[in-house]
Amino acid sequence: MLTQIKGLHHVTSMAANAQQNSDFFTKKLGLRRVKKTVNFDSPDVYHLYYGDEVGTPGSVMTYFPFPHIAPNHPGAGEVGETYFAVPKGSLGYWKGRLEGLDVTGLSETEVFGEKRLRFNGPDRDAFSLIETDDARIGWNHSEVDAAEAIKGFHGASLRLKDAGATKELLGFMGYQQVDSKDAWTRFAIEGGNGADVIDIETLPQANNARQGAGSVHHIAFAVENRAAQLEVRKALMDTGHQVTPVIDRDYFWAIYFRTPGGVLFEIATNEPGFDRDEDTAHLGEALKLPSRYEAHRTQIEDMLEPITD
Ligand code: ZN
Repeated sequence: MLTQIKGLHHVTSMAANAQQNSDFFTKKLGLRRVKKTVNFDSPDVYHLYYGDEVGTPGSVMTYFPFPHIAPNHPGAGEVGETYFAVPKGSLGYWKGRLEGLDVTGLSETEVFGEKRLRFNGPDRDAFSLIETDDARIGWNHSEVDAAEAIKGFHGASLRLKDAGATKELLGFMGYQQVDSKDAWTRFAIEGGNGADVIDIETLPQANNARQGAGSVHHIAFAVENRAAQLEVRKALMDTGHQVTPVIDRDYFWAIYFRTPGGVLFEIATNEPGFDRDEDTAHLGEALKLPSRYEAHRTQIEDMLEPITD
């Protein structure tokens, strides 16, 4: 069993509109936009990152806004719901706030003994706010005070037709099964960064997902550094997973592999972090490009719809 994985690092989804996406996460949810860059594999598309003050791993929701993307058809083989952690006693505040801001899909429920408020993102993305008592402090220089601010992720759920091999994989990655109810099985990692929970929902009869706007593209798990990442990569390959080479994403190093249930997993390093090329005070304001695209900055800026804050 691996011991290098410390919970989630980031979750990356697809959106239809960059401005709408930025407004939703900064103005409605009160996250900080910690990076405005481009998709390193397709620089005509933004890559927007939202999180706590510095984009601490375990807090970072990221988006590729594709202007002409079709809506998603949720189904099996993908992340079902992304969970944000909020302070105990704050869900009443959030319900009032999100209702007042015309956020859709609001419903209150209790799962595995935790109070949660479900809501939809700008492309009907499935989210929950869940009350937790972990000590992380969210970005509170927004309209949302520290007493209510989103602390980071709590975790995510995976929707799978056949969960067997993915459960085995999570166990290998260091997760332990801690609860189960009906179609749901809860896994958690000890000594993680707070974004410690993965739920599996087993749906044998479900159709496969057709990804589009509002779908999670991949889910990334955190390791401390590149040495730990190489250990994880070797261990995954030794157990038969096909893992990409290490890819430099400027703010972290990444490897990717497709899990048996169909979900794309990434392992990302906590180093070097989102403040490597910007002052903490101005994170996410300027368009940052990887060095190989700097020579094409003007053309790239012309292809991107400007985002106003
Ligand atoms: Zn990623």
